[in-house]
Amino acid sequence: MDIFEEQIKELFLGTLNAHRMPHAVLIQGPNEQSRKEAADFLSRYAVCSSDNRPCGECKNCIKASLNGHSDIYTPKLSGKTNIISIEAIRELIKDASIIPNEADTKVFILYDVDKCMSPIVQNAFLKILEEPPQSTLFILTAESSSRMLPTILSRVQVFSLKNEVSVNEETDALAKEIINGILSPNEVSLLYATVKLNSRLKFKEVLLVVSEYLRLGLNKSVGATAQCNIASAIAKKLTKSRIISLIELTSKAILKAECNVNMALLCTWLCGEYRRISWHR
Ligand SMILES: [Zn+2]
Repeated sequence: MDIFEEQIKELFLGTLNAHRMPHAVLIQGPNEQSRKEAADFLSRYAVCSSDNRPCGECKNCIKASLNGHSDIYTPKLSGKTNIISIEAIRELIKDASIIPNEADTKVFILYDVDKCMSPIVQNAFLKILEEPPQSTLFILTAESSSRMLPTILSRVQVFSLKNEVSVNEETDALAKEIINGILSPNEVSLLYATVKLNSRLKFKEVLLVVSEYLRLGLNKSVGATAQCNIASAIAKKLTKSRIISLIELTSKAILKAECNVNMALLCTWLCGEYRRISWHR
């Protein structure tokens, strides 16, 4: 499970529901890659034909992830400066009035509209936002909404992405404490740390970060440059196969927490399993 994907899911799924999708959303955030990933995720969500969106397995999801879905459009950029021309917008407006081919929703993704859409083009685009056709979703991304027409902003649902990984300090500190506990010869430090995972929500949040650190440690142990001290420490103290087992265990624990298990028992079990994997000869 990818920490960023989890964040995106939380961001959208709290607000969206499959039967009440907005016609237009704007995803804004500082990181270009994150904006793109969030937009692509939402497009898969919109075309997926399963109840558990996006399932990643249905025909629509597979086509979308291969960039080959006939109901997901991105207007062509033109000129040296990669702008969306007024002609491209007119074309898009025409396309939007045609019903979807295979999915229930037709999706138009317009990346980085703050950079590639002039106010004149935004104005032309506004027409379709004022009277959006049935079963269409417009996904816009922007580094900042400040260069966009207020009339556009008033017609889109805005989602703001934080920095790449926006983990709060407390969560991050506890995740590090758990990693240090796993690496420490002293069993008590891990026990202290896992006891703090008392709520279901916190448990999942912290373990996603633990899993991310373990992954960085694994990358380091296969030769990547370490991105943080904790990754170096993991790679130094644990073998590759132990790190992989720890990652698997962490995912398993997150799944368990989603079921209605007793949290105190789950924490004790997790602590024991972490110790078993990291210290067993
Ligand atoms: Zn699907």
